[in-house]
Amino acid sequence: MTHPELSPAAPSGGTELSPAAPGGGTEPASAPVIVRALVARGSGAELRVERVRLPAPGPGEVRVTIRAAGVCHSDLSMVNGTLAARFPLVLGHEATGVVAEVGPGSRLTVGTPVVLNWAPACRACWWCRRGEPWLCADTTAPTVPRGETDDGVPLHLTLGLGALAEAVVVPERAVIPIPAGLPPEQAALLGCAVLTGVGAVRNTARVTPGESVAVVGLGGVGLAVLSAARRAGATTILAIDVAEAKRDLALAAGATDFLLSDDRLSKEVRARTESRGVDHAFECVGRAATIRAAWRLTRRGGAVTVVGMGAKDDMVSLGALDIFHSARTLRSSVYGSSDPDREVPVLAAELADSALDLGVLVSGTMSLDEAPTAFERLARGEGARWVVTLD
Ligand SMILES: [Zn+2]
Ligand SMILES: [Zn+2]
Repeated sequence: MTHPELSPAAPSGGTELSPAAPGGGTEPASAPVIVRALVARGSGAELRVERVRLPAPGPGEVRVTIRAAGVCHSDLSMVNGTLAARFPLVLGHEATGVVAEVGPGSRLTVGTPVVLNWAPACRACWWCRRGEPWLCADTTAPTVPRGETDDGVPLHLTLGLGALAEAVVVPERAVIPIPAGLPPEQAALLGCAVLTGVGAVRNTARVTPGESVAVVGLGGVGLAVLSAARRAGATTILAIDVAEAKRDLALAAGATDFLLSDDRLSKEVRARTESRGVDHAFECVGRAATIRAAWRLTRRGGAVTVVGMGAKDDMVSLGALDIFHSARTLRSSVYGSSDPDREVPVLAAELADSALDLGVLVSGTMSLDEAPTAFERLARGEGARWVVTLD
């Protein structure tokens, strides 16, 4: 098997493409490979597609050829400084691809279609052993540089993956096998937006039939929450955003109503919930102001689930009497409170038999070279998910 998607030769350092291990065996990995990847050289710096050098997969590692990668708001937050990041940084953490090479002792087979997992669980720490792998304490991987730029600078990878690239080399526990033949631009979303959105509804909030839901912020995750709420049997599903342009997307994703986030919002929500407020509000932005808005839209005794990842210094202020009197619950949903190894295959099977349709989440596909425009559109709040496809 050859890899025409990889650059044929290194411009320096004399590395060459190594052929894949035949038939998925456990042959020792060989040389590093050169691939093209979307790299940020610093906070606010212009994004560029660069040639980068990936190490050969070591023991327990695999190289995955990327087929499609979504551009997630967390990628944008790394670039614009909302989240702390180290540079140079390969962007991307929501992707699907095919195992192209396995390191010694790998249980995986070359040719297996996979989804990448940005929070691979160690299965040994206190949280993993109690069945909360999304809180795994082994978080060293994302901070260790892997590979290097063409000019020899160690590379950092977004959430340990760096998936907006022609290939990644990752621990095998960071890949989840899926059935062959899924549309790549939809399968890619299983690894972040969809798992997060579905998990927030099913695992964290546990929405039940007949309940009312409000979703604040209609990016890829917010839209995934809407459709999961519909599938969970919620009967009042209020989609809320600052952009009127999100109305049609929201209704297509499963909302029963679209509301603009303005000073009439609380009134509009109460008009649709017999003056009580919703049973569940999902905050999918990651800002103190929208967390407070979600709090105010929720009924006494209801629950606010924070799905958005916000900035360290953005403080949420709530009244002490309000906290007591409202009897609301405020909690976060990290990676959908999910076990990706168990839940991604279930979602992939649903996608395969059309029980799950993610078409509405994909606003468009583009090449890796066009990926910087996806970041610009995301920053302007345009569309749902922009997905980079590679073949
Ligand atoms: Zn993400
Ligand atoms: Zn763990």
